Amino acid sequence: PVRGRYVCIEALDAIDGSDIAAIAEMYLLDNNGERLSREPWTVMYADSEDTEGANRSADKIFDLQESTYWQTAQGVEFPHTVVIDLGSSRDLSGFQYLPRMDAEVPGAIRNYKIHEAFIKRFNEQGSVYASAGRINLIGEHTDYNGGFVFPGAIDKVIMAEIAPNDTDKVRVYSIDIDDYAEFGLNEADAPEASWARYIFGVCREVHKRGGIVKGFDAVFAGNVPLGAGLSSSAALESCFAFALNDLFNDNNIDKFELARIGQSTEHNYCGVNCGIMDQFASVMGQAGKLMRLDCRSMEFEYFPFQIDGYKLVLLDSKVKHALVDSPYNKRRASCERVAKRLGLETLRDATMPMLKSIRTDITAEDYFRAKFVIEEKERVLAVCDALNAGDYETVGRKMYETHRGLSDDYEVSCEELDFLNDIARECGVTGSRIMGGGFGGCTINLVRKDLRDKFIETAKSKFNEKYGHEPKVYPVVISDGARIVERAEKKETDEK
Ligand code: ADP
Ligand code: MG
Repeated sequence: PVRGRYVCIEALDAIDGSDIAAIAEMYLLDNNGERLSREPWTVMYADSEDTEGANRSADKIFDLQESTYWQTAQGVEFPHTVVIDLGSSRDLSGFQYLPRMDAEVPGAIRNYKIHEAFIKRFNEQGSVYASAGRINLIGEHTDYNGGFVFPGAIDKVIMAEIAPNDTDKVRVYSIDIDDYAEFGLNEADAPEASWARYIFGVCREVHKRGGIVKGFDAVFAGNVPLGAGLSSSAALESCFAFALNDLFNDNNIDKFELARIGQSTEHNYCGVNCGIMDQFASVMGQAGKLMRLDCRSMEFEYFPFQIDGYKLVLLDSKVKHALVDSPYNKRRASCERVAKRLGLETLRDATMPMLKSIRTDITAEDYFRAKFVIEEKERVLAVCDALNAGDYETVGRKMYETHRGLSDDYEVSCEELDFLNDIARECGVTGSRIMGGGFGGCTINLVRKDLRDKFIETAKSKFNEKYGHEPKVYPVVISDGARIVERAEKKETDEK
């Protein structure tokens, strides 16, 4: 038996092409080891979008009476020890029972894969760290207007095993890219590979802030889709920033500063002029909670996101229109013009009556841009109230309103995203909107559990019919942000 807060068994061979990640029998035990549940639960976790397919294949193999998707880990800590018993009566051939099944959240990548590569390369044991990608529920184009964003960390992470190596060099292997980099810690030592520059940048930014950085060995991998709007780069930066804080700085660097370290890394070493939201969410995220971040004061507050009857599903249109820069800058300029006309620093303090009072003095375009920003700020606040009341139908309605605003008033949507939004509405999905800057990318959908599979099927086939390819589907669960997954056992030589 394997004990742990969450335990995951991975089937290495997908069956019927579906990725079954975990099948096992699970008993709940109390602290004395007594069984609390008489019958074992048959537990299955499918790390694929096709939970139904996975379910079917599992049925076929095991003739399951009942299967439980063990995907409810979002925020719900199992109160008791979980014991996995690989039901000996069942034929588990085709499944590999993996000894290191202590992934914190089902669906997170398993650290055994990383550990295997780490041992092979460096012949030692390190500590394992992880940090997450993110979604933003609502609050779009509000950051540069001093407004609110509303992100949360997701169950897709970058995970790294890291050990100090007593040199002044960093040696790091990326499993996913299958590439190795070695670099020093001085400004002149920047590596060529773009993935390695994220890590180098984090080292430099920690150093610039007076933090300690020494040489280390690392192996990392991730399951945050790259460039899909879920911020894999922030997950990467946050994972290493968190690790350097833990390994060399006694965790003395403030967590918000870790987010700033990631942001500065993008600015100074990766040529991306991003805001703070992605790194903030990646570092500070908590399972079952979203965060409202005030982009003016940088104050933030957690709100419950316990969507028992719902699921969050992202649909990636896989289209990217226009060079985003110039339309983005134009919208920014509109907002600045209107704020200035109102005698304000940003649109944060503007209201609709104020905007209406200057309507004839500004262009129609500027008017609608500002209208969106003002309404979006109010929508975020309305969503906060709704979350506190557990009213997800209102949350969903606000998401649709945001989509409409982004499409009609801010004009950053595109045909494909509007099409996905229409399908969501037709299917009776609770909430749906563009996520991110617009002109392509994903929609984020809040969908009732019972509608989920049908919605995904419909969206895939209708989109495919019209645009010749299916949108990619990413189910997400709001999960913990930066964290230590496993601490290396102390080496004897460390004691001196
Ligand atoms: P995103 O929107 O996902 O943040 P970016 O272009 O900002 O997209 O960041 C993606 C880059 O981050 C990749 O090109 C790569 O350099 C790095 N990266 C992200 N995930 C991984 C990974 N699993 N392994 C190696 N590098 C990664
Ligand atoms: Mg990025």
